[in-house]
Amino acid sequence: MTTAFDNRRGLLKAGAATAAVAAAGGLAGCATTDSAAPAKKIGRVIVIGGGYGGATAAKYINQWSNGAIEVYLIDRERNFVSCPISNLVLGGTQSMETITHSYAKLREKGIIVLNDEVTAIDPAKKKISLKKIADLTYDRLVVSPGIDFNFNAIQGLNDEAQKTILHSWKAGPQTVALKAQLDAVPNGGVYVLSIPKAPYRCPPGPYERACQVAHLFKAKGNTKSKVIIMDANPDIQSKKGLFMKAWADLYPGMIEYNPNMVVNELDIKGKRLVTETGDKVRGDVLNVVPPHRAGNIAQAAGLVNVNNLWCGVDWVTMESLVHKNIHVLGDATFAAPAMPKSGHMANQHGKAAAAAIVELMNGRSPVAPMMANTCYSFVDDKNVVHVASVHAYDEKDKTMKTVAGSGGVSGRPTEIEGRFAMGWARNIWADMLT
Ligand SMILES: Cc1cc2nc3c(=O)[nH]c(=O)nc-3n(C[C@H](O)[C@H](O)[C@H](O)COP(=O)(O)OP(=O)(O)OC[C@H]3O[C@@H](n4cnc5c(N)ncnc54)[C@H](O)[C@@H]3O)c2cc1C
Repeated sequence: MTTAFDNRRGLLKAGAATAAVAAAGGLAGCATTDSAAPAKKIGRVIVIGGGYGGATAAKYINQWSNGAIEVYLIDRERNFVSCPISNLVLGGTQSMETITHSYAKLREKGIIVLNDEVTAIDPAKKKISLKKIADLTYDRLVVSPGIDFNFNAIQGLNDEAQKTILHSWKAGPQTVALKAQLDAVPNGGVYVLSIPKAPYRCPPGPYERACQVAHLFKAKGNTKSKVIIMDANPDIQSKKGLFMKAWADLYPGMIEYNPNMVVNELDIKGKRLVTETGDKVRGDVLNVVPPHRAGNIAQAAGLVNVNNLWCGVDWVTMESLVHKNIHVLGDATFAAPAMPKSGHMANQHGKAAAAAIVELMNGRSPVAPMMANTCYSFVDDKNVVHVASVHAYDEKDKTMKTVAGSGGVSGRPTEIEGRFAMGWARNIWADMLT
């Protein structure tokens, strides 16, 4: 088993080799990308979080600096497990193996990947503390910790209750556990999904999940079973017409959608969710997605400066508006107008930050980025719909704005989009991890 310490020893060896090549007048000057000889180091970047934002940033800082920037990538999980496609694991048509990927290829590029948890950030000393190994210092820090949940918003959803009342809104063990709960639902049983107020990660994700659970029930012959959606929002948040038509066409009478249902209490004995207005909904499986906020480490480091929930950033560099030399990516950011919290968008943040960091650490000025997003949703095992958008930096308002006339949504679910969706997933995993 490789430990964090083994990786660091590997680093020391690699560092010695780098120094030897540099001293011998190596190839740094004419380096290209992956196969280039290691360049003279110009500084160290530590990336916290090896998800869609962080892994992308780590890969591209290494690649675009030709190895001149020493890159650490730190995640508390040993492997990357993708939320995109995880709804299909619940639906029974994809496996955990499909969505689980190793960091080995990033290690081969010279990125120091540590399996550890960052417990504190000291912006003044440019230092982080970790659970397993000694403190590390950085020249620039990238923070992409995703989201954490406000469990306190739901009375009764305490530590004990959380063992059985799952969110499965972070892919991993909870995906497997929710699938087991769904498999045990008898014909006529009820699945209840509670959606928090926006912004939450992946606006169409809950509605795709409703499709996948209904698909699972239908495939098992549980046609008397029901999917009840309790949405805290006033309406379906993404691809509304497409989801409503898919529910009516594919799962008639199976999916019930309820807007404005803010769940604030769990009655675990009665297997019921209770709303602010006193409505009570009973289910055999209660899938509660609590309200979101930026990942805990961002909060602890004082990076959260918007609504006590999210991290404001400079959209040219992705640098925190609170602490210099710290860049925040992905779901943890206070999103620009109409910018979704998505894996695709976090990947774009990762590239924007990587480009800016390489420029800044070489004494040059970063260029304002363009970003794009596509989110595919499976309405059954094969048919898919998408939503897309393009976002450009607006110099006057210092934010990203959607480009007029760009993007749009599918006309209807199709199998060809199903193939595009799996292609999208394989491509983005390869883009960030290989
Ligand atoms: C069911 C579902 C379906 C989705 N489908 C899509 C889709 O089809 N398309 C799409 O684009 N997006 C989709 N998303 C959204 C997407 O998963 C997120 O937007 C994306 O993961 C955000 O990337 P991130 O880098 O901000 O966070 P993450 O990808 O969550 O990565 C954060 C990482 O940081 C690590 N971490 C956190 N704190 C620490 C710490 N202190 N120390 C060490 N490590 C730490 C975590 O272990 C994690 O690996 C979906 C989400 C869900 C829940």
